Amino acid sequence: MYPGEPRRADVAPYNGHKSFQVTMKILQMLTLRGPNYWSIRRHRLIVLRLDLQDWDERYTDELPGFYEALVELLPSLEEHFCSPGCRGGFLQRLREGTLLGHVVEHVALELQTLAGMPVHFGRTRETRTRGVYNVVYEYQYERAGRYAGRAAVRICQDLARGDAIPNGNWLPTWRNCGNSNRPLPWD
Ligand SMILES: [Zn+2]
Repeated sequence: MYPGEPRRADVAPYNGHKSFQVTMKILQMLTLRGPNYWSIRRHRLIVLRLDLQDWDERYTDELPGFYEALVELLPSLEEHFCSPGCRGGFLQRLREGTLLGHVVEHVALELQTLAGMPVHFGRTRETRTRGVYNVVYEYQYERAGRYAGRAAVRICQDLARGDAIPNGNWLPTWRNCGNSNRPLPWD
């Protein structure tokens, strides 16, 4: 048990990703630009209110192939310390089993980092509404941060369902965003 993560409930056994058709839903995306409830030092935060829908109570260790696919897509997640406080900490949490809201937080941070905007702070907390989480993460450039959040939800959703990520070549393009003259995807 880690802070903010609910106890595992008795849910029906996982019976194949294709039976999960209801997609996660972003209920709200707030951009914070000043002192806030989540952090004393970090003022630039995005709060994504995320409804996991069918994916609530589904932990990453129960999703076949999810860990492998995510690490293949974003190997640099190895650098995320997360609650264990050491290199590989987040990957450890993924293997032990964590909820997808928490994964969205780390993917949103990593996408920005890869695009030349390194960010590290994030928190994911349950709300009073079952299945709804506040996914909080840092940004440097507002539009890129919001874009990264939407992309992270999409990526986690697709990988959890066992779907391939469309346009597998987007990652190198993304990586070069910071120093190319092409229009940025979030502009
Ligand atoms: Zn974490």
